[in-house]
Amino acid sequence: MYRSYTCGELRTDHIQEEVTLSGWVQKVRDKGFVVWIDLRDRYGITQLIFDEERTSKALLEQARAVGREFVIQAKGTVIERASKNPNIPTGAIEILVSEFTVLNEALVPPFTIEDETDGGEDIRMKYRYLDIRRNPVKDNLIFRHKVAMEVRKYLSNEHFIEIETPYLIKSTPEGARDFVVPSRMNEGQFYALPQSPQTFKQLLMVGGMDKYFQIVKCFRDEDLRADRQPEFTQIDCEMAFVEQEDILQIFEGLTQHLLKEIHGVAPEKFPRITYDEAMQRFGNDKPDIRFGMEFGELNEVAQHKEFNVFNSAELVVGIAIPGAASYTRKEIDALVDWVRRPQVGAKGMVYVKCNEDGSFKSSVDKFYDQNDLAKWADVTGAKAGDLICVLSGDSNATRAQLSALRMEMAERLGLRKATEFAPLWVIDFPLLELDEETGNYHAMHHPFTSPKPGQMELLDTNPGAVKANAYDLVLNGNEIGGGSIRIHDKDTQAIMFKHLGFTPEEAKAQFGFLMDAFQYGAPPHGGIAFGLDRLVAILGGQETIRDFIAFPKNNSGRDVMIDAPASVDEDQLKELHLKLDIPS
Ligand code: ASP
Repeated sequence: MYRSYTCGELRTDHIQEEVTLSGWVQKVRDKGFVVWIDLRDRYGITQLIFDEERTSKALLEQARAVGREFVIQAKGTVIERASKNPNIPTGAIEILVSEFTVLNEALVPPFTIEDETDGGEDIRMKYRYLDIRRNPVKDNLIFRHKVAMEVRKYLSNEHFIEIETPYLIKSTPEGARDFVVPSRMNEGQFYALPQSPQTFKQLLMVGGMDKYFQIVKCFRDEDLRADRQPEFTQIDCEMAFVEQEDILQIFEGLTQHLLKEIHGVAPEKFPRITYDEAMQRFGNDKPDIRFGMEFGELNEVAQHKEFNVFNSAELVVGIAIPGAASYTRKEIDALVDWVRRPQVGAKGMVYVKCNEDGSFKSSVDKFYDQNDLAKWADVTGAKAGDLICVLSGDSNATRAQLSALRMEMAERLGLRKATEFAPLWVIDFPLLELDEETGNYHAMHHPFTSPKPGQMELLDTNPGAVKANAYDLVLNGNEIGGGSIRIHDKDTQAIMFKHLGFTPEEAKAQFGFLMDAFQYGAPPHGGIAFGLDRLVAILGGQETIRDFIAFPKNNSGRDVMIDAPASVDEDQLKELHLKLDIPS
């Protein structure tokens, strides 16, 4: 038996007990007449003691010879420590060692295995298995397990069945590129890895499995943005015989269950706002509502004066930044520079200081008097001491820019508190989105999403105005889940494909299996998928999903530990009937 206890278990109750522990050497302290070894495993650290009085010389020498991260087994007696360490649960005891085995030696690790390590991100990724020994990473993985268990518990109680769907499939359109896998046995043909199990879960509904879920890997070959992973995990769910209301209730329940089990908080009924309202009030379809700074549209009160920048703008919109009227000229200039960075893209920014004495001082005093500015303060909800920041231009772009400023200021002012949770539903998304470059419409959610009742007719006349039966669950400024009520009849699905630019032949070739299935008694159905990685990170009070994935890829989509992706040899290519054509 390698161990009778873990390194996190022993207390004063165990004094005098003979025990066996196994683990890694965290630290060796050699005082000459006494040697201590901190022995570590997943559960904690226990101190081993060897001394000249009670330990044989040979054993003492053996203890001195071990290095950091050696794997050892120690047998001995639990004794009370002379000087106790109140900072660790095992701090009142130590093990007087009588037998000691080195199970495996270790090279000196390339970084220290401590909570605050000296290793940078790259080296820690290369030796991720060592990084996982550190508490912050280990604790995150354990936390992820806990969240996944609670998800399974809640959904099982609600009679959902976890069903696996295949990874080697045909393209599922979720808006990204597919990763493809060549088929050796079918020359010139390829599988695609699922961007999500979307079509399969719908087929499960046709199959009568009316409540399905799966914690499942999805694969999307996207240009990597910061903190995106090419493979990520969804809590994927689908239900039959449901309307939007049923789905919102069940999954609001899931989110409440998680918040309660994990943080002991139970937010009341989640607010629901429409997509249009979210864009208008926050400039964003995943608003962070832990703080105010809501948008105030100023067209009416700021246009038709002499200020042409505003007069020619489609939208003039501002926010009131609490307490920022005291900013110096230099600080305000820095803000203007910030909104003009290419990542944000504003051309400039107008500001109004709302002075404590009730007067206003603005960057456009030439064009607006105190009465005008008082109206701006009214519209943006600014109070004495606040700074109103105003952007103008094309509606969509301006909203996005002001939203970026709103989030940045909230961050700077410490308003995005990791321990505060503000969930909400965003509903009534547009069905279609215009691709500015090609001039074509594509599905905002995916092609299987149904329009709101009575909106089909609008598809021909004003496709951009059609609202979808689609919803997102937003938590603290992050979309943590999204889904829709699906189309479940062949004809509607065919009309949808037509509007998305598929010929009937293309639709049949790609999705014939689904349209066929719809002819054999498809029940009304809908669902949702949560991004597990992000959900876990947010519940863990952090934003980086990489920290909650055991073996993540870096920002270039590489696994630097195993060095993937990598080339394959000629024979393998031949077998797969592939020929590379890469300009050298
Ligand atoms: N398949 C969708 C997605 O991955 C989720 C859903 O519609 O249920 O976003």
